[in-house]
Amino acid sequence: MSHTVVIGAGIGGLTTAALLLKAGHEVTVLEAHVYPGGSAGTFYHKGFRFDVGATLAGGFSPGGPHARLADLLGLTWPVTPVDPAWVVYLPDGRTVTQWSDPGRWQAERQLAFPQAESFWRQQEKLADIAWDVSSRPFPWPPQSPQELLTLARALRPRTLRAIPHLFHTIGDLAPSKDPLFTAFLDAQLLISAQTISRQANALYGSAALDLPRRGVNHVPGGIGALATTLVTWIRQQGGTVHFRQKVEQITVEKGRATAVTTNKGLHLQADQVIANVTPWALRGLLNTAAPRPLVKEVQQRPPTWGAFTLYLGLDEAQLPPGLADHYQVIADHTRPLGEGNSVFISLSGVGDTQRAPAGMRAATLSTHTAVTPWWTLRQASNPAAYCERREQYTNRLLTTAERAIPGLRRATRLCLPGTPVTFEFYTRRPSGMVGGFPQTSLFNARGPRTGIPNLWQVGDSIFPGQSTAGVTLGGLRVATAVLQS
Ligand SMILES: Cc1cc2nc3c(=O)[nH]c(=O)nc-3n(C[C@H](O)[C@H](O)[C@H](O)COP(=O)(O)OP(=O)(O)OC[C@H]3O[C@@H](n4cnc5c(N)ncnc54)[C@H](O)[C@@H]3O)c2cc1C
Repeated sequence: MSHTVVIGAGIGGLTTAALLLKAGHEVTVLEAHVYPGGSAGTFYHKGFRFDVGATLAGGFSPGGPHARLADLLGLTWPVTPVDPAWVVYLPDGRTVTQWSDPGRWQAERQLAFPQAESFWRQQEKLADIAWDVSSRPFPWPPQSPQELLTLARALRPRTLRAIPHLFHTIGDLAPSKDPLFTAFLDAQLLISAQTISRQANALYGSAALDLPRRGVNHVPGGIGALATTLVTWIRQQGGTVHFRQKVEQITVEKGRATAVTTNKGLHLQADQVIANVTPWALRGLLNTAAPRPLVKEVQQRPPTWGAFTLYLGLDEAQLPPGLADHYQVIADHTRPLGEGNSVFISLSGVGDTQRAPAGMRAATLSTHTAVTPWWTLRQASNPAAYCERREQYTNRLLTTAERAIPGLRRATRLCLPGTPVTFEFYTRRPSGMVGGFPQTSLFNARGPRTGIPNLWQVGDSIFPGQSTAGVTLGGLRVATAVLQS
């Protein structure tokens, strides 16, 4: 029986592991941390369960990636739909509610941005094409003749209507006269495509802007329950998942990956290795065996985004009544987003006692941040400067978040900050770079092949990139490619 070793129990790694197990492989997953899920994990602290990064999950509607996986594996996801998906606070104090219900969303956007209706119609058409294509096997970018054939089969006459937009950005399609409309689009795209409207590819960006309309879900108990569901399924079907096993080396012999070794001295022979890691991490695991293009890539690629997060334990009695579960606040549209100027806020559901003690709620706040300044301070001999920056960002996020939730500071009983340094430690993602690559062009998308034929990458570093739904699509693609090879 073919033995597949999967490095990392993120959603991408677990999805691929489950599919290969189902196809008859012997599967071992090695996870460095004590719980699964990585950026989509949930951790326990002093009575609270905090979502590490991801808080909302799409892709559970019929045909969506998580729904397809559930059909293939015969499992049930512990999710409940949430509508509205989130509420956006604009700098002028107006709110725009991202309804999942298409009629309510249309009415809302016409009220907020009456000049943009033709843009939204075009966005929805392009999104329909993108989501339709991605509901079939769609191995982009194609890396083998079989994948080219699969791609050709996935195309339909209506797909051709997207061709004129292959090289467009969302900025090319959107009206540009209202700076608040641009800020609104930019904030949505930053969290879903890692870039803003001027740079986001029109097809990818249209699909990303459609997330609320496609339906988003809450995971009672925390988003980590998605990963836990997969771990349980894998174990029940005879696969192995080890925690506290950090892979430190992939052995390559005669051009093939033959074994992996962990920090605890576990040495496993492998017929295939699936690496749920970023290119920077993969280069480190391969060391001198790293293929030259990978070495060059990690030398040349600029760092991607990091996240600054706050995990708050909140006294519900001090919070305003009738809060939504998710907010996005843009403080100042004349300044770049991220760095506390735009903040995403997620609260645990009212009465979800798996997440917080009775009368309390758990919250995750996040903002995009450049990773380098954090590491420069961390590595300097003055740790106070790093702590000071952390304090500044904590205050900045709370101030921004108070626009949506007045009294948030007063309600805070517990406050844990997370910087890119924290993210590197807990998710093992070098420099704390999270969320994959900015989706600026379909033609520089990364595929899963690594240059070593039986070593594959999964996760948000390969197309279609970030989100639990995105990495599930990547996992579906990699499992198919492994079986074909
Ligand atoms: C702040 C933030 C907010 C987000 N919000 C959302 C959201 O609301 N909705 C959404 O869908 N997505 C969201 N995302 C994105 C989403 O969380 C990620 O794109 C996705 O979870 C990444 O999955 P992955 O498969 O790449 O694995 P990762 O999450 O990167 O997990 C990889 C796993 O591998 C393990 N690992 C790494 N190296 C080793 C090693 N050497 N040995 C053993 N184990 C190893 C890690 O410990 C980790 O558990 C957010 C991300 C962040 C950071």
